[in-house]
Amino acid sequence: MLTGPALARFRKNLLAWFSQFQRDLPWRRSKDPYRIWLSEIMLQQTRVATAIPYYERFLEAFPDVHALAEAPQEEVLRLWSGLGYYSRARNLQKAAQQIVALHNGVFPATEAEALALPGVGKYTAAAILSMAYGQKLAVLDGNVARVLARLQAIRGDLRAGIRWQELQKSAEALLAPRAPGDWNQAMMELGAILCTPKLPQCLLCPVSEFCAARKLGLADTIPEKRKKRATVELQLAAAVLLDPQGHTLLLPPPKPKAGPARKADVGAIVSRMWHFPTIEVHRDAALELRANLEESLRRGHKFSAPLERLPKVRHTVTYRSITLLPFRMKLKKLPQISGAKVLPLSDLSSVPISNLTRKIARAALDS
Ligand code: SF4
Repeated sequence: MLTGPALARFRKNLLAWFSQFQRDLPWRRSKDPYRIWLSEIMLQQTRVATAIPYYERFLEAFPDVHALAEAPQEEVLRLWSGLGYYSRARNLQKAAQQIVALHNGVFPATEAEALALPGVGKYTAAAILSMAYGQKLAVLDGNVARVLARLQAIRGDLRAGIRWQELQKSAEALLAPRAPGDWNQAMMELGAILCTPKLPQCLLCPVSEFCAARKLGLADTIPEKRKKRATVELQLAAAVLLDPQGHTLLLPPPKPKAGPARKADVGAIVSRMWHFPTIEVHRDAALELRANLEESLRRGHKFSAPLERLPKVRHTVTYRSITLLPFRMKLKKLPQISGAKVLPLSDLSSVPISNLTRKIARAALDS
């Protein structure tokens, strides 16, 4: 990696570019560790444009760590609803409670204490501590790893073997010690705006003169694509029970089951949130769903109303590709199920629901 005057020039070029071209993002307007932490958790697996309105709504409801720690979990999940990967929200709240209990409500300033919080890994700790407290910790995420790999023309799977550790060392060697927070953001911004996975814009790049991949004509081929886990196809059926007032029935968040992960774990597929009665089906979806509803909701008693088929819904959760067959059943009266909620189908916003449940509700409303 670079040393001496070349390293100084590299840092100067990148920081100058960042100060001129960085995007105006809401979390960049504050050094409050709570706000930075929230943005970092939201931005894991979520694009910036998607995260912004959630971030703003979340802060309005929970302006500080105390408000988040004390909130009902259901309210936290409701405001996260639609962002996916709900363990992030659950961990965020657990960590907030830990911060209140152990750190007087202030995000801890040491890496070891930050790493002890649920949902905070090496990357997140480095990002928060460098941006909020100016600590000299270098971040390494997918964006930064791609930039570093291209700068040094490193081939192969970046997450494999000791390569990731070597990238971490490179990130630390490059870190600008006087402005670690800006530096980390500048590296991430370069990866997000110019040194993108496809078609990197090397002509606009502030550090192109230092880039080995560009010199070798390899910018487009580094990093090597990761092998994806094979996709599993699943077929599910869900029932939208509807009374004459337009109310429907949602079942409570399923608890995780012990034992090895199952590919058709409906609880995980509905993100452990409120959901329509849903099962995996194999041959005759309507028949299997009806039998299940009669068994689980009516203890073996028959429903006389027909199941009306609604347009199918496609949904992907990590490696699962789901075809969901929603059915509507119009009933004079909804069955009374302990723990279930009866809500207007047109407004399920009072409880946390997954994107899949939202898609099913939309299919039922549009038909
Ligand atoms: S020159 Fe191109 S490949 Fe190299 S760091 Fe800049 S944008 Fe990325």
